[in-house]
Amino acid sequence: MQTFHNPHHAGHAGQQEMFRGRMVPCHEVPARLDYVLTELRRRPLGAMTITDLTEAALDKGIARVHSARYLDFLANAWDDWVAMDPANAQRDALPSVWPLGNRHAFRNDVLPANFAARLGLFSFDSGSPLTSGTWAAARGGAACALAAANAVASGARSAFALTRPPGHHAGVDFLGGYCFLNNAAIAAQALRDAGHTHVAVLDVDYHHGNGTQTIFYERADVLTVSIHGDPATEYPFFLGHTDERGAGIGAGFNLNLPLPRGSGLAAWRTALDQGLQAVADFGAQALVVPMGLDTFEGDPISGFTLRSEDYFAVGAALASAGLPTVFTFEGGYAVAEVGTNAVNLLEGFQQVA
Ligand SMILES: [Zn+2]
Repeated sequence: MQTFHNPHHAGHAGQQEMFRGRMVPCHEVPARLDYVLTELRRRPLGAMTITDLTEAALDKGIARVHSARYLDFLANAWDDWVAMDPANAQRDALPSVWPLGNRHAFRNDVLPANFAARLGLFSFDSGSPLTSGTWAAARGGAACALAAANAVASGARSAFALTRPPGHHAGVDFLGGYCFLNNAAIAAQALRDAGHTHVAVLDVDYHHGNGTQTIFYERADVLTVSIHGDPATEYPFFLGHTDERGAGIGAGFNLNLPLPRGSGLAAWRTALDQGLQAVADFGAQALVVPMGLDTFEGDPISGFTLRSEDYFAVGAALASAGLPTVFTFEGGYAVAEVGTNAVNLLEGFQQVA
């Protein structure tokens, strides 16, 4: 299994995130990815590659998923933040005002001149600091996702996009949940564009893949499935319920499998089997797995109880779908264990595939 690695990821290094009235150190830190790299060097799965995708090809792949207005915002965000106040160069950009778009209580069609307002318009939480290196890091991650999709479209059984920052919470035109560009959606769309008529996304992160769900919600060519902590109690709270089945032509092509906080391997595996059955019933020709390792029992911000050795079986079960598969790297905040858990899952996949 080839791994595509993002050399720009460490430029995205937030200092603090807002958590229930306090500024706390960021959970999503560069060291997460370094632990995965270290483990991949100790237990190699295949070639480790830095993608040579052109800027034009990258722009094109990203624009297949995200709106031009949002991408323009992201590309200029850091400069605009510092232009508000030169002292901002020492601080992360975090939003503090939102338009509550779904309720139409405020307008979102008029682009505010004030950057603090724009930051709120294009985000849904205050836990996702935007820094001087965020845009380059997010683009580098998306390049990994595109390169992995291209490798699989060219015949590889699987590929691993070692993306950071993560992506599955980002929507067409919003950031949040530490995510800026939706790498899994970009990979899924690239697989569609390469000719796979039916592409499935099976999200195994602890948190609901709200961004991916919304991107494909009204489409019948991409099935989205997510196994996650019940949004009644778990982030991102406002999406991820069982009655969200897709809309319009996409009705029936979204499946949410929420589980109560505290769930262990047995319940989780039952949900995974349900998800894999849905992928098979859909007739998927390719699979994208947003791979979060925050289902781990030691994760500091999550609530499932999978153990490190369980990830071998998770990978083997995913391989049993028998599909060309792209993995994107998502959550997992038990920093020292995230490398072991990620490589256990991928090794489990590779042993069956
Ligand atoms: Zn997560």
